[in-house]
Amino acid sequence: MSAFASRAGEFRPSPVRAVFETAMDPSVVSLAGGNPDLSVLPGGTVGDLAAQLIRERAGEILQYGSGAGTAGLRELSVRLMARGGSTVTEADVLPTTGSQAGLDLVTKLFCDPGDVILAEGPTYVGALGVFGAYEVDVRHVPVDEHGMDPSAVADALDDAAAQGERVPFVYVIPSFQNPTGVTMPVERRRELVRVCAERDVMIIEDDPYALLSFDRAQPLASMHGMDPEHVIHLGSFSKIFAPGLRIGWIAAPPEVRGRLQIAAESVVIHPSNLAQSLVTAWVGSEHWEPTLDNAVTLYRERWEAMDAALTEFMPSSVRWTTPTGGFFTWVTADELVGKDVLAEAIAHGVVLVPGSACYMDGRDSDAVRLAFSGVAPARIREGVKRFAQVLRDL
Ligand code: PMP
Repeated sequence: MSAFASRAGEFRPSPVRAVFETAMDPSVVSLAGGNPDLSVLPGGTVGDLAAQLIRERAGEILQYGSGAGTAGLRELSVRLMARGGSTVTEADVLPTTGSQAGLDLVTKLFCDPGDVILAEGPTYVGALGVFGAYEVDVRHVPVDEHGMDPSAVADALDDAAAQGERVPFVYVIPSFQNPTGVTMPVERRRELVRVCAERDVMIIEDDPYALLSFDRAQPLASMHGMDPEHVIHLGSFSKIFAPGLRIGWIAAPPEVRGRLQIAAESVVIHPSNLAQSLVTAWVGSEHWEPTLDNAVTLYRERWEAMDAALTEFMPSSVRWTTPTGGFFTWVTADELVGKDVLAEAIAHGVVLVPGSACYMDGRDSDAVRLAFSGVAPARIREGVKRFAQVLRDL
């Protein structure tokens, strides 16, 4: 339609959202969505908390609130970030309607059309949707088993500078990366911070999986804690509580945080008071940590079931990553090259995220992302078996 803005042509549907309906079909095994398992959440207890909040504080919770978010949520975000070694204060934290919205705000604030940003290759499909909408040119830096290589980032930044290109930030998912499941060791994080700070380029640290280590160890040191002036941290309660509440946060230097708040106010005015208060009450309660322990135990068992099924069913040439936490593994197979992998998978009763969706240019890929977080072990085995049949038929 001619009335659309030019940027509308860059809007791209997330392949995960596009197969949402198919994935709901009970005859299909969905290894596509990175869904937390909510079966371990005591719904009654959460419901009681929500009811109590409204009963006791309706006048505040059901009224308009502050664009700065609630004090409780800011304080909670500060406490969670301290686990990764960050000394951020409440004044530097902005509650958001999820980290997806946080990324949109940050991109809106920093990027003009045609600006270059660096991201892992492959990266989170939802981030590509944001970058496309702001007409940003994404350069992918390859990921190995330890994530993004800082020396490759340095080279890419220097190349861009030599071309006179503006690079407002490097986007990185350091823990249990979406889609590969790999984690950046602390030394690489430190090196990446050094490389970017030296060139005065910001890092956007998108870290929603940090607390989901299978051994429930403390999270690795966050890059934000290493250099809060050069790192903007995106946090989320989606994977550690409930994605349907749509609550996350941004930690950023004061000048950035203030502008992000103004940008957010013009879109949502403020995140839901009820959702913020419920997150604060639940994550602040004695129930949260044991519930998260139970969920992570499930994720570990599911990863073990997926690893076993991949070993059982995949041809010997197929490779996959070994996550130590989070929701995903990345499976590489020559058979996938040049194929419409998603269509073939759906025809075999399984859905997944094709590797090509994790690159801005949709390049051909020899890989897929499999999510194990939201599926019972027997279904995981069946899904992997179906995927193995897809490979055979290709
Ligand atoms: N960033 C990454 C890396 C993610 O995997 C996700 C969720 N799949 C998001 C952001 C969005 O999270 P939220 O629900 O907090 O918007």
